[in-house]
Amino acid sequence: MTNLKGKTAIITGSTSGIGLGIAQGLAGAGVNIVINGFGDEAEIENIGKELESKDIKAIYHGADMTKPDEIEDLIKTANSEFGSVDILVNNAGIQFVSPVEDFPSEKWDAIIAINMSSAFHTIRHALPLMKKQGWGRIINIASSHGLVASPYKSAYVTAKHGIMGLTKTIALECAEDNVTVNAICPGYVKTPLVEGQIADTAKVRGITEDEVINDVLLKAQWTKKFVETDQLAELTLFLCSDAAQNMTGGHIPIDGGWTAA
Ligand code: NAD
Repeated sequence: MTNLKGKTAIITGSTSGIGLGIAQGLAGAGVNIVINGFGDEAEIENIGKELESKDIKAIYHGADMTKPDEIEDLIKTANSEFGSVDILVNNAGIQFVSPVEDFPSEKWDAIIAINMSSAFHTIRHALPLMKKQGWGRIINIASSHGLVASPYKSAYVTAKHGIMGLTKTIALECAEDNVTVNAICPGYVKTPLVEGQIADTAKVRGITEDEVINDVLLKAQWTKKFVETDQLAELTLFLCSDAAQNMTGGHIPIDGGWTAA
């Protein structure tokens, strides 16, 4: 197994859900963690303590992913605190479900900024550090919606398709620098983001929440099971390993067969 001990990872949106699961997985492998995202101060403090119980150092930076200057400060702070940025996981994301004709333009702008443009900003500041040290891993948490569409998710599907293009482009730009760039495309994972969507989709489609789970979400997922956050953490660890050194510019679906159909 590749030794990641002492490396530093920034995981955007790691106060909850998938990002938190990935932070826990990387911390378990000895990686120092920069936690980012919103949430209750005491809860974030507890996340930091729990991560540090795995014999690593964790710091929190509250950069808002809609604000390029705060994103720049996130990368700079990580580098000055730990002396390197080795692993960057672009994970922060939000969702909003509505027919396009009623889609509020401020929701469109926020989704494009948080789910897509933030990765441009993190990468442009982190990549020079990775190139200089001759090692790096950039992992973009895209979605099945980076590969296929669903109705009423125009902004989300657009942002996730965009992140796939960014992944491929940056992979080519740093292919000879020992820095890999890949996207993970999860199907449905039962996190707060999806729990909110269950209620919203029920309203938009005029059906019950159980019907949303069985007839909308897991309908596409042939295994009839939600993806688990620790499965995404294990996949992230694999992409950080030496075995994945020659995997770059790619995407890995982890979606119960959704995008195979
Ligand atoms: P979540 O709501 O549990 O977590 C989202 C995280 O992003 C939180 O830490 C939140 O504080 C943070 N965040 C939101 N807005 C932010 C901002 N402006 N600045 C900084 N941080 C911000 O959601 P999740 O389900 O864990 O989603 C994480 C990522 O995984 C998203 O990019 C999402 O699109 C993607 N994804 C989720 C699923 C799923 O089924 N849950 C499936 C595929 C992809």
